[in-house]
Amino acid sequence: MSNANNDHVIQPIPGVRGAQAYFYRGADGTAVVDPGYTGSSRAVLRFLTERRINPKDLEWVILTHHHIDHAGTAFALCEATGARLAVHRDDAPYLRATRPRERMTLWGMADWLPPRLAAYVVTCAGCEPRLLEHGETIAGLTVVHGPGHTPGSIGLWSATESALFTGDILNNERGLGMPPWSVNHSHKKARLAPQRLRGLRYERAFFGHGPAIMEAADRRIDAFLRRQNPQTDVVSVTDRPG
Ligand SMILES: [Zn+2]
Ligand SMILES: [Zn+2]
Repeated sequence: MSNANNDHVIQPIPGVRGAQAYFYRGADGTAVVDPGYTGSSRAVLRFLTERRINPKDLEWVILTHHHIDHAGTAFALCEATGARLAVHRDDAPYLRATRPRERMTLWGMADWLPPRLAAYVVTCAGCEPRLLEHGETIAGLTVVHGPGHTPGSIGLWSATESALFTGDILNNERGLGMPPWSVNHSHKKARLAPQRLRGLRYERAFFGHGPAIMEAADRRIDAFLRRQNPQTDVVSVTDRPG
């Protein structure tokens, strides 16, 4: 199921610190998914320049969730390119200085730091992002809401490119697996969240952490998810969560 159109591309961006950043160009738009830890925007801009992609042509910076290893440089990249930021509605509050005070934000401790230092501890976005919802599409990518790792964790699925970005809903660091409890907002929900990916069809899977699977990724991931939780009902991306 390879793509005939050479303009269409999904590529990992080298030199980004933190999670793996991806450049995505499909029929319906151009995006960087999870540009990486604070300071990594330079590596993304270098990637674009080397491939003769005008940074002004970048339409979207899409976050699979707010964690700083994925999102720390997001606002800087938006400012440098003119791209718009997009994040799930339930993670947007974590990008603001008034972020919820809980274990995963160090109970607001970052708010006592000078702003320049805080940018290395928590993700800050001085803009109004587009708020994403389960089932909608952005740049041709369908949003799959899988809360748990963070409240607004999402996967991004492209039917036309036959590809899935899992964010941190699922990783491939030591084989397929879920993030450990210590980094999950709700570990109970995070263990169930990957089940929402069941039923999607895609050849390739791209993870926030761990190597991509380039062939028959849906079959491998579905087999893993059946072993994890054979009873769970499949939630279609066209269903709205209650
Ligand atoms: Zn991560
Ligand atoms: Zn994360």
